[in-house]
Amino acid sequence: MRITFWGVRGSIPCPGRKTYRYGGNTPCIELSFEDMKRSLIIDAGSGIRELGNLIMARDFPKGPLNIEIFLTHTHWDHILGLPFFTPLYIPGSQVRIYGPASFDGNSLQEVVGSQFSYHYFPIRYAELAAEIDYVELKEGSCDLRDGFIIKTKFLNHPVLCLGYRFERNGLAFCTLYDTEPFRSVFIDNPANPDYDEDMHHEGEMIAFEENRRVEEFISGADIVIYDGQYTLKEYQSGKVGWGHSPCEYAIAAAARAGVKRLCLFHHDPLRTDDELDQLTEVLCTPHISGSMNVFFAKEGTSINIT
Ligand SMILES: [Zn+2]
Ligand SMILES: [Zn+2]
Repeated sequence: MRITFWGVRGSIPCPGRKTYRYGGNTPCIELSFEDMKRSLIIDAGSGIRELGNLIMARDFPKGPLNIEIFLTHTHWDHILGLPFFTPLYIPGSQVRIYGPASFDGNSLQEVVGSQFSYHYFPIRYAELAAEIDYVELKEGSCDLRDGFIIKTKFLNHPVLCLGYRFERNGLAFCTLYDTEPFRSVFIDNPANPDYDEDMHHEGEMIAFEENRRVEEFISGADIVIYDGQYTLKEYQSGKVGWGHSPCEYAIAAAARAGVKRLCLFHHDPLRTDDELDQLTEVLCTPHISGSMNVFFAKEGTSINIT
């Protein structure tokens, strides 16, 4: 199993001299297996443009393209690279897009495809030459042939967002980003006149159970790519409810779940390369992470899991 990072940044592309070492492109990850000729991509952030160019040079000369894209959700930073993904314009290409089913009446195709309108882009959806189909996912598990299984879990984000667990040949790789710890949605301040102790208690129990289910979902994984947009201090200083996790929580949750390698991902656009180096020194040490290998994702790097 090989994982390649084409985009690791959250929220908005941020190229520049302060981000060039870790990378400024938004989420896009390539997943490949030596013995399986399938092109598997997680998210279509700005990083997918370069990946599309590589697919055209590497795979297209060998025959028609067959590509599967797994969207975690449809926030802009996870789909904005799609109009620049060359395989969509190649007749004979087949592109299957998986993503969360929405509950507001708009299909996945409508949400993703609405980028291709003259208001936003010079090419209309109807002009795309590839054969594109969509698979809407809820929580559960899917057998994708070749011994390849995906499992999905709803995360805690301001829109429906999926965590993925990819399993094959006894190896497990999970994505768990654009999420933050679940918490009670009920009033927790006893001084508030609307405070209800029973409701508060119930809310705490539900949040606890959901956080436990997330840890069960990534249990024993060989590698987990986890949201690490903030430090705990930043998170507690006005970022609760923004849908992203503090690195310290990600490390503790992954360690409890028995994860082997933890990759912190979806770096804040304000985070410089030097700051990521400093965070590596502070957080990616046995003192904090125990025997688990912890690192910050870097665009352009690959990891082999065996
Ligand atoms: Zn995002
Ligand atoms: Zn998001």
